[in-house]
Amino acid sequence: MPKIAIIGAGDVGTTIAYTLQISGIVTEIVLIDINQKLAQGQIMDMNHGLFFVPPVYLTAGNYSDCRSSDVIIITAGARQKTGESRMSLVERNATICRSIFDEIRPYNSTAVFLIATNPLDVITQVVIKHSDLPKHQVIGLGTVLDSARFRYIISQYCHVDARNVHAYVIGEHGDSEVILWSQVRIGGTPLKEFSKESTYACDPIDKESVTKDIRNSAYHIIEAKGATNYGVSLAVRRIVEAIIRDENSVLTVSTLLNGEYGLDDVCLSVPCIINRKGIKSIVETTLDQSEEKALEKSAEIISDTYMNIC
Ligand code: NAD
Repeated sequence: MPKIAIIGAGDVGTTIAYTLQISGIVTEIVLIDINQKLAQGQIMDMNHGLFFVPPVYLTAGNYSDCRSSDVIIITAGARQKTGESRMSLVERNATICRSIFDEIRPYNSTAVFLIATNPLDVITQVVIKHSDLPKHQVIGLGTVLDSARFRYIISQYCHVDARNVHAYVIGEHGDSEVILWSQVRIGGTPLKEFSKESTYACDPIDKESVTKDIRNSAYHIIEAKGATNYGVSLAVRRIVEAIIRDENSVLTVSTLLNGEYGLDDVCLSVPCIINRKGIKSIVETTLDQSEEKALEKSAEIISDTYMNIC
């Protein structure tokens, strides 16, 4: 039965644990943090709610408890302060994530590793290179949340259920991410046609302001409440579900590209098929010229940052 280990019992790690606890899709969750007291307190609190949810075994543990985990989620590390970019965290978090992987290595090298720590594309690449694990086994949470934000915003303009909007954000999970306007579909209908049709009474969409809203979402939330935790945890829950249920679901996670989209040796998000093994394959969708250029730029930014810390 599915066992999940979560490294980092801060806002993100704990909300992921709670989201998984109430989801009923896993049977065991272990929460690990350098601050053991914090992890123990979080678990004690969640255990007091067990009466109200499907059975799940929750513990605060140490790295040996990663043994037999199906998915190991890494959320440990520094987070952005108000106005700070994700890339500014890179050196601190690369060091933390390398050391965490070394701690886990003796106990588990078969799990799927899911990276949430920022800047997540660079950190995903750091873990892949440092660990020598097959690349399909290390997934960056990527732009799954950014794609969800895009779908939500379009759903508000078009007055439809967000689940019926197909829209993708690819590239860096950060300032250079690429909003794929050319691919937006509502119930199979291209956005351009859907928004023209008077029956649906869509509000006019200002693409520039929507793009800005998606890119700046995390900055606005951090300014308002100091951290982001709910949206990201639901995105993680979705990826975990796709893995443990062997779903072959298409999600925009961060992966190491080797020639796909004309890009080499860089981690960034593109649509990928996710199943029990992690990433089954990369989907190469059609991009228009400006999207292609923007993706190249995004790859360059991630690559340069990665090279600087190697
Ligand atoms: P937080 O400060 O609340 O928690 C971080 C936790 O990591 C702390 O409890 C700390 O004790 C622990 N930690 C630090 N070093 C450790 C180590 N060596 N071993 C074990 N635990 C260690 O931060 P947060 O808000 O939970 O954010 C965590 C990370 O997730 C940040 O890098 C943040 O930028 C990132 N994040 C990513 C997304 C996304 O969409 N990918 C969204 C939100 C936050």
